[in-house]
Amino acid sequence: MVAANRLPVVLHREAAEVRITPSSGGLVTAMHPVLGERGGTWIGWPGDTSGLSAARVEEALHAVSEEQGFDLVPVTLSEELRQCYYDGFANATIWPLFHDLQGRCRFDESYYKGYVEANRRFAREIARRTEKGDLLWVHDYHLMSVAHQLRQQRVALRTAFFLHIPFPASDIFLKLPWRRQLLRHLLDFDFLGFQTQRDRRNFLGCLVDLFPRFTISKTGVMHSVTREKRNTRIGVFPIGIDAAGFEKLSGEAAVREMEREIRESYAGRRLFLGVDRLDYTKGIPQRLHAFERALERFPHLREKVTLLQLVVPSREDVEGYAPLREEIERIVGHVNGRFTSGNWVPVVLMVRSVSRERLIALYRAACAALITPLKDGMNLVCKEYCAVKTENDGVLILSEFAGAAAQLYKGALLVNPHDMEGMARSIEAAATMSPAEQERRMKRLRRNVARHDIHWWVSGFLSAASERGMRRKIDPAAFVAYPQLCEEEWL
Ligand code: UDP
Repeated sequence: MVAANRLPVVLHREAAEVRITPSSGGLVTAMHPVLGERGGTWIGWPGDTSGLSAARVEEALHAVSEEQGFDLVPVTLSEELRQCYYDGFANATIWPLFHDLQGRCRFDESYYKGYVEANRRFAREIARRTEKGDLLWVHDYHLMSVAHQLRQQRVALRTAFFLHIPFPASDIFLKLPWRRQLLRHLLDFDFLGFQTQRDRRNFLGCLVDLFPRFTISKTGVMHSVTREKRNTRIGVFPIGIDAAGFEKLSGEAAVREMEREIRESYAGRRLFLGVDRLDYTKGIPQRLHAFERALERFPHLREKVTLLQLVVPSREDVEGYAPLREEIERIVGHVNGRFTSGNWVPVVLMVRSVSRERLIALYRAACAALITPLKDGMNLVCKEYCAVKTENDGVLILSEFAGAAAQLYKGALLVNPHDMEGMARSIEAAATMSPAEQERRMKRLRRNVARHDIHWWVSGFLSAASERGMRRKIDPAAFVAYPQLCEEEWL
């Protein structure tokens, strides 16, 4: 059984009808093909179902289950509870804190209580649908207290948790008023997975500071924490994508036609692409400023490069997100006002989501991807970009604070998103990189993305979580924390 905040579909009430749309985001993109192939149950929030009876919700989800090959189980929450749990604790406390943006955190007792209560409801639904010995795989920062709640309800399951976002260093985590409770809740899982070595190191650092009596040991690539006769194993599993699926789609005629149209409309220009949810962690304003700096510093780029920034609306009810959109629009207006000439517009902003096919066409048409989050658990967009570059062209400019940097640092141009000059230089380097150098780097990137794909991730995580040991040998280079800063440390 998989538990995540959202189901892979969202239900909407439209008059007397129920409309069903796919959910967006990295977790859904990653996990959907996995359950589609293996079967099982996905438990999560079905969207705002107010006004729909429980029977109507079940019926709508049953139809989707039949079609997709796995069961969907809804956890419905009142609007008030969801605000505290999701908009509040998950997205206004944990999300900024775990991305090192403590100035954006709201610490509110009612948020924390709502979070624990929502986790309790998830646990109750899980308990109803599982049997002793089943393996439960819980995803992400919304559900860190589920194992604790299951223990409170005396439900015996094997529980595993994967954190898709970063885990902060102790100096930051300690700001959280409920730091002890949350760490203990996490240790109620039998198994914990993090994206990078850095995240695991941070987590263990917090344990050392807050619970110095707990014993931490290491066997092979796994760590264990023992306390009060209980043991939690902790591993590192950088999430991958369905690389073969992306590559296959990239060959479809409709995608190639869209790619041709995009190339035609930017003929004579090198297209730089940014694709991000509307989120302050993604570093979009900083990227736009860096692009402006590149045009300022390198006049030969003017009229030759265009940045197409796709911003996918997200969390519109969470504080801080609406002003971000205004800020982005303002900077784009400023850069375009300053540099537009003839029929050249330096930055094209699209605020919407696009189909998978169009996204792949954009990736293929772009001569460079600018992926520069201030901090990111992994970042799947950069892996998707590489997966569909079947001609081995294109340059990946990647933030060293994206989890993916630990795997892709050898083929990408790594940048510090706070270093405007450095980013401007990398933009110039990408715009002028020879085809041979692009090919050399892209081949390397594509090999890494194909080898460490979603199936590698799932089987590695599940075999480790089910204590069958690591079936595949792990390439240690996949787990380097800050390779550009401590090249040899992991050796
Ligand atoms: N994506 C999408 N619709 C779009 C643009 C992007 O569904 O219009 C997907 C994209 O393919 C990727 C995911 O959104 O799989 C973003 O994942 P990532 O890990 O990069 O960031 P997250 O949004 O999870 O922070």
